[in-house]
Amino acid sequence: MKVVLKNLTKKFPNRNKKGADVIAVNNFDFEIPDGKLIGLLGPSGCGKSTALNLICGLLKPTEGKIYFGDSDVTDLPPEKRGVGLVFQNYALYPHLNVRQNITFPLENLKGKNKMKKEERLKKAMEVAKLVQIDELMDRKPSELSGGQQQRVAIARALVKMPNVLLLDEPLSNLDARLRLQTREEIKRIQNETGITTIFVTHDQDEAMSISDLIIVMKDGVIQQIGAPQGVYDEPENLFVAKFLGTPPINVFDARVENEKLIIGDAAVFDVPGVADGEVVAGIRPEGFIIDKNGPLSCSLKGIEVMGRDISIISSHNASQNPTVRSIVMSDKELDISGTAVRFSLRKGKVFIFDKETEQRIKF
Ligand code: ADP
Ligand code: MG
Repeated sequence: MKVVLKNLTKKFPNRNKKGADVIAVNNFDFEIPDGKLIGLLGPSGCGKSTALNLICGLLKPTEGKIYFGDSDVTDLPPEKRGVGLVFQNYALYPHLNVRQNITFPLENLKGKNKMKKEERLKKAMEVAKLVQIDELMDRKPSELSGGQQQRVAIARALVKMPNVLLLDEPLSNLDARLRLQTREEIKRIQNETGITTIFVTHDQDEAMSISDLIIVMKDGVIQQIGAPQGVYDEPENLFVAKFLGTPPINVFDARVENEKLIIGDAAVFDVPGVADGEVVAGIRPEGFIIDKNGPLSCSLKGIEVMGRDISIISSHNASQNPTVRSIVMSDKELDISGTAVRFSLRKGKVFIFDKETEQRIKF
């Protein structure tokens, strides 16, 4: 089911009386297509949970409307919206076993939705199979690992076949390997059920890897919406460029003169059509090509071999960060010695931004 947000805003009064309201969600206006997995991505405190709680009905908006399909659900309580919710802490009932935890949402269905016991157990088994915990049905939550507990929580959210599945940082309590595995599982489960899913995370890797669309937000305001690769390749502003990518984009104080990008005193890249002036330049780590005649000269600080590729750590006076990180394939013959390393730059990996507005200047 598609989810449509119209001018959705949530303000919280500031506890300090003189302070202005906190606008946790500022004028969200977009449509989430049916059957897709959406990554809602932004730093801690940017309003992700508030947005999710508005969509599920735990919070009332200050302004705006929410539609599921064509029906206005803005004033419906959470239990009438048909949403499945999963939070960071799994919030399972400790005294119930896995089977009972999963069937719990089915116990109190009324009227035409009322389910017989066999039906409830059948349904629970179906979703347990889907999240691969069907062998663990008799265990209590305390007898499960974190990853297994989170699967139970997902099964419980799915058992009523919700219109929309909402996941708020569901992997944060898992260790790195399990996080990787569980996020793939979530993608698979979403694919198999086709339930429109909103996945909240502050981890760009996580959002990029499983989402059909990502929504990048900052301070309650949406910065960009698009397919992960599209947003990575075409960031609309400096915040988005910095937020996506590991290692992060390298940022330089720079200027444009005669359609050339100047870093330090070297013309490093052609920027046709861009007016002269000071700018901020961003270069993705994979945008550097080792080239002894290249225009950008950095001081070499170290090399990290990472197996598949090599990370070259250097510095440059105009860099906004203490180090410049570039990634080159390890199968290349590397001829780096001495104290300097020179680079030429790869097309499509160099961005420039207005110094004041931080909006991208395209060329
Ligand atoms: P995120 O989930 O992205 O970390 P939240 O949605 O939890 O962010 O919070 C967004 C902003 O709204 C923060 O500044 C937070 O302090 C504020 N906020 C959240 N809930 C409340 C509340 N109930 N009362 C007042 N301020 C709140
Ligand atoms: Mg949150």
